[in-house]
Amino acid sequence: MGALLSIKDLYVSYGNVKALNGVSLEVQPGSIACLVGANGAGKSTLLDSISGRVQAKAGEITFEGKPLPRQVDKIVKLGISQAPEGRKIFVELTVRENLIMGGFILSKSQSSEMEEQMYELFPLLKERMNQQAGTLSGGEQQQLAIARGLMSRPKLLMLDEPSLGLAPIIVNTVFNYIKKIKEDMGISVLLVEQNAMKALEVSDDAYVIENGLIRMHGKASEIRENREIVQAYLGEKKKEN
Ligand code: ATP
Repeated sequence: MGALLSIKDLYVSYGNVKALNGVSLEVQPGSIACLVGANGAGKSTLLDSISGRVQAKAGEITFEGKPLPRQVDKIVKLGISQAPEGRKIFVELTVRENLIMGGFILSKSQSSEMEEQMYELFPLLKERMNQQAGTLSGGEQQQLAIARGLMSRPKLLMLDEPSLGLAPIIVNTVFNYIKKIKEDMGISVLLVEQNAMKALEVSDDAYVIENGLIRMHGKASEIRENREIVQAYLGEKKKEN
């Protein structure tokens, strides 16, 4: 089977700022791919280009072998969902209302079914379903962000910095959920992270981005073991957290 998502030679600029300079990347069905790199490397821009929030100047994005339309709602309907970055959930709304917003393309009965599935996957959200989302802790808000992304029953879930601002122990919980989403639900994941070592740990494939260019790609396990790459491109010492 071919790639689920395939990006070829993507160029994106914001005025004079060149954010992506010919990026190519693939996500295989039933796998986790991560895109790691420093601040400003172009990670969010890549996700925003896939989800239709940013228009590319040149390049090609195909999903299940077909060119991806450029409208956000059509992209969601085809099965691509982007969980909001960090804590960008609807803070004024309750947990439940946030989930319902995530399932906007579903019928009422499908949405209720997904909501139940989310409460099974994230029991904490069930306990807090009527709580205002802005009053959840950071780790709880991140779980809600992921659950909201899953509500549309995507084939591909894109996560932007799910570990941002979380304590190390909570980071582990969130990454365990990401593995579970792949293993138990069969959903492919494209993960963007600055916490490179953690992302490499749960991913099958990895891409290292620097200044809008993919500098390296390969099996996540191999990139993780390569001390030179880790030090040169990922700016971290190899350590567990
Ligand atoms: P971070 O990890 O800090 O979120 P990133 O890897 O996600 O960074 P992007 O947010 O994609 O990087 O930014 C890539 C480049 O594009 C940066 O130089 C950034 O300043 C620039 N950029 C991003 N959004 C805009 C915008 N709306 N207008 C102008 N420049 C932008």
